[in-house]
Amino acid sequence: MDLKKAILVTGGAGYIGSHVSLYCIKKGHRVIILDNYSQGQELLSFPALVIKGDYGDPVLLATLFSTYAIQSVIHCGASTHAALSMADPLSYYDNNVSKTVILLQQMVKHNVLKFVFSSSCAVYGNQESALLNEENPLRLVSSPYGKTKVMVEQILADCAHSYGIQFVSLRCFNAFGIEPGSGLKENHIPETHLIPLLWHTAYLKIPFYIFGTDYDTPDGTCIRDYVHVYDSASAHYKALEYLEKENPSDIFNIGMGKGWSVKEVIKAVELVTQQKIQTRDALRREGDPERLVADPFKAIHILGWKPVYSDLISGIASLLG
Ligand code: UDP
Repeated sequence: MDLKKAILVTGGAGYIGSHVSLYCIKKGHRVIILDNYSQGQELLSFPALVIKGDYGDPVLLATLFSTYAIQSVIHCGASTHAALSMADPLSYYDNNVSKTVILLQQMVKHNVLKFVFSSSCAVYGNQESALLNEENPLRLVSSPYGKTKVMVEQILADCAHSYGIQFVSLRCFNAFGIEPGSGLKENHIPETHLIPLLWHTAYLKIPFYIFGTDYDTPDGTCIRDYVHVYDSASAHYKALEYLEKENPSDIFNIGMGKGWSVKEVIKAVELVTQQKIQTRDALRREGDPERLVADPFKAIHILGWKPVYSDLISGIASLLG
């Protein structure tokens, strides 16, 4: 890759985006972060050009694309909570779909044609198969959030056909952990994700609510595939390398191929923190699929992705810093 040219990372102050940015910087790249700070963290003394702004702002995008030698875009910016998207779907369609269309229009206009899309396992919804591969049908998607990711993937396929955009869509399963020593944070407001919530409740000694204990799973709680955020970041970088080699646009699952139930994750957090977590059974959360576990074969064999955190315990321990 041409190290003199920059990578634009949207949502680069967010949880996954900041780890992706750091990973690219460590590989020697110039990174321009574009983030509106609706979420995310202040990136003080971060070795990137950090621009506060919206990836749906065509004037700002036109200025960025005509001022800097941007070779590719990694699109991590999005509204990301499946549960919140049930309450306010229009803001999800606006942030995740309409504004992404504006970003793509400006890319095409300025001849920036390489695009890595941070998609989500939420595209799969409720499925029968134990392991999900990229061929599983997407008609079962259960939340507006998941639908926005499906829509952008469809838009990307059309853009590839009509404008020569080359894209990789990464269907990221549940990211967790922190790159040790990075000073980065998982800082969602409100925080809705399982592992950071468990972490807080363990130390604050407040009850943790398990959303649904009547699922058709061995212990009745939902199952997810947890991928360390460092490994998710490396997958985004691998996707860029893949595009730089002029490979065809494609879609890859980024998951470990192993599922953990909510109750198993609770035990793992208790083990790492050495704190007992007080749990309460609660109703199912609207829009939650029962089980989402990746078949990561394609990412490992075609992208050459090699996750380094192979187990949940060591990944959770990364939260200790
Ligand atoms: N969950 C829970 N209690 C909470 C937060 C999450 O039981 O306070 C469950 C949630 O219902 C889901 C799993 O933890 O089954 C993972 O949820 P998270 O929000 O972390 O990720 P999602 O899979 O929804 O993207």
